[in-house]
Amino acid sequence: MSRKDRDHFNLLCDIGDLAALVTGSHNIEAFLDSTVKLVSRHLEADVCSIYLYDENAGDLVLKATVGLNPDAIGQIRMKPGEGLVGATFESLHPIREAFASCNPLFKYFEEANEDRFESFLSVPIQRGVQKIGVLVVQHEKPDYFSERDVMALKASASQLAGAVENARLLMDLYEATGTPAAPSALEPQAFIRGQIASEGIAQGPITFFKKSHVSFLSGNANLCTRFTEADFHEAVKKTSRELAELQSRLAERLPESASLIFTAHFMILKDPKFIDRIVHQITEGASPPDAVRSVARHYINVFSSSSHAYIREKVSDMEDLAGRILKNMYRHGQEMQGNEKGRIVVAGELYPSEILKLASEDVQGVILVKGGITSHVSILARSLKIPLIIADHPQLMELPEETPVLLDATIGNIYINPDEEILAQFAERQAAGQVLAKTPDTACRIACTADGTRVRLLANINLLSELAVAKEMNAEGIGLYRTEFPFIVRPTFPSEEEQYLVYKHLFDEMADREVTIRTLDISGDKALVYSNATSGKNPDLGLRSIRFSLRHRPLFEQQLRAILRAGADAGRLRIMFPMISSLDEFREAKRILEICMDDLARENLPHHSNPAIGMMVEVPSVVEIMPALARETDFFSIGTNDFIQYTIAVDRTNEKVAEYYRAYHPAVLRGLSRVVRAAVAAEREIAVCGEMGHETEYIPFLLGIGVRTLSVGPQFLPAVHDCIAGLTLADAERHAGILLAEDTLAGALKVLQSYTAGRTEGAPAPGSAL
Ligand code: PEP
Ligand code: MG
Repeated sequence: MSRKDRDHFNLLCDIGDLAALVTGSHNIEAFLDSTVKLVSRHLEADVCSIYLYDENAGDLVLKATVGLNPDAIGQIRMKPGEGLVGATFESLHPIREAFASCNPLFKYFEEANEDRFESFLSVPIQRGVQKIGVLVVQHEKPDYFSERDVMALKASASQLAGAVENARLLMDLYEATGTPAAPSALEPQAFIRGQIASEGIAQGPITFFKKSHVSFLSGNANLCTRFTEADFHEAVKKTSRELAELQSRLAERLPESASLIFTAHFMILKDPKFIDRIVHQITEGASPPDAVRSVARHYINVFSSSSHAYIREKVSDMEDLAGRILKNMYRHGQEMQGNEKGRIVVAGELYPSEILKLASEDVQGVILVKGGITSHVSILARSLKIPLIIADHPQLMELPEETPVLLDATIGNIYINPDEEILAQFAERQAAGQVLAKTPDTACRIACTADGTRVRLLANINLLSELAVAKEMNAEGIGLYRTEFPFIVRPTFPSEEEQYLVYKHLFDEMADREVTIRTLDISGDKALVYSNATSGKNPDLGLRSIRFSLRHRPLFEQQLRAILRAGADAGRLRIMFPMISSLDEFREAKRILEICMDDLARENLPHHSNPAIGMMVEVPSVVEIMPALARETDFFSIGTNDFIQYTIAVDRTNEKVAEYYRAYHPAVLRGLSRVVRAAVAAEREIAVCGEMGHETEYIPFLLGIGVRTLSVGPQFLPAVHDCIAGLTLADAERHAGILLAEDTLAGALKVLQSYTAGRTEGAPAPGSAL
């Protein structure tokens, strides 16, 4: 082995050790500094530097160097593609230059004093598909680095990648959490950016979903306090009162499910075996907290080993309950409150039923590290008015419990440890927002374009509590009532009678306004804990939605009967089937509905005997058979959330592929246009009830292709109304024509952006997803 080879070998050994040493360490600067020193020593290079990619700013930043001016650290920045370093990062190929200054890409940074170094060698630092940065060595002597040095540097970069990535994530985090006395508190480095799933502003200490209870169960709290059996009974009583209060508070927000969320808690609390087991352990000498923990663990073990999903779900109920009893024992005499009250909950992901529970705790806001903005948990958060940001930053999960956070879910920023100045700015904005919210003209009037084309505006409702807003905003009716939420929050399938009560409430509230009720659409992210029926490797392509209803006919019939009975006196009842993919499926669903009407008539039960029967357009197979469907359906409603997901094969719930989930994909736009044309030709109403319907950048296109009914979250109605009033149909049609002619994503985006910019005189549309 030559001396140089041996040095390369030693370099790799040293780097291997170094990476092992520093992974998990917080001493990031020191780690990067040791790395550049080590590499420069082994390669006998005058200079060694590390540039890391700053995702917020979109720049490569010099983070460590030996040989260049140390003052340039953090100062030298370049875009991917800029200079030799940027070119390495962009192309993911090493660059070796004998005379760097002769390369037209070479960029001289005066502050670095690098003009003396002719030889240049750079390699990308990447981990999997993740681009992290660039490792560079330089030397005064021209043509100094060999092909072997390239290999050694590449191998070093790949060994270092994991540790460097950790370092970069932590550095980003510390930059965001630092408290620099910045003149403008809204500096880009001071926050983490995420996607807005539910708008609003929230502020408070963070807590991690479920962790607060686990901490009580782990047995480390307040060990020196002595408790008696009486303390235990007192804590049980207090827990019971606390749950009853939570339940009644929840009734205002969730009338359809209030009594159901804590059923398991109450059942366990009232189970004498549970209480007796604990008392028995106390009389045998165990301390009351230990007795609670031990019995709770026993239940948890039993529940978690069950083969039934709905019993496994009880594990979290048991944790929650035992956590509450322990909390009430330790914090005896303190004000009753839920663990999440007033807090910002950070979670990996959440199910709809879990966000309902959080709503009952009065959480301030939620940060999800996974999920998509059109997922149902996001839709539900909007209904519950809980600000929610989805940020693909797993290091958020490492923040200390109670870290103060400010969530600006109007622009998607998360401020960690916000300083006084930021807080003051937000207090002002919130006060201004409240004044605005009180202005009387929020309710929308009949919607018309500037040249007089009438557009019907309906509301999407997920929870009965939203009906009040829908009415306040003057929705002409309900264009989509998602029936699955009452199913999701229950411990088992709701009976016909239970469903009847929920739907009756809906029809009573809406009186003679039109109500479109969608039959059950359970699926991947709306799975029922008490049923494995919709599970499978790929639930969104599995037994979901109408397929589930047709397969489980008794359940389908119960729902249809409940709708027909509850809507007996409804002015205009419309029943809509979700996820229809063929004419046969539609016919089958309609046939069962007709059988239900016949049965109800035979049973002499009051019911609606002539509902309009329609279907959702969500599955691309429908595009080809629209004329046939139009002959047999009364109306259509396009669910753009799923239509986009299935047309371009992008999971709407996965933040990692969010950039691929693009409504402006030419195939999506053309598909929508064909669907609308076919419906209009057959004189069938076609509405849009997916999220695209409230996105003001898409409304001109939708009107331009012939849509005349939009159904949107009630909170969006005023903005949608104003957007329509500011358009002429002729202009919208022209815009749609231009957009449809674009073959590429880039082309379509450009058309949309320039149209939006033109309409807003240069300012980007608020909330624009472009
Ligand atoms: C849709 O897919 O656009 C839709 C409205 O249905 P959901 O969001 O409930 O799947
Ligand atoms: Mg859908």
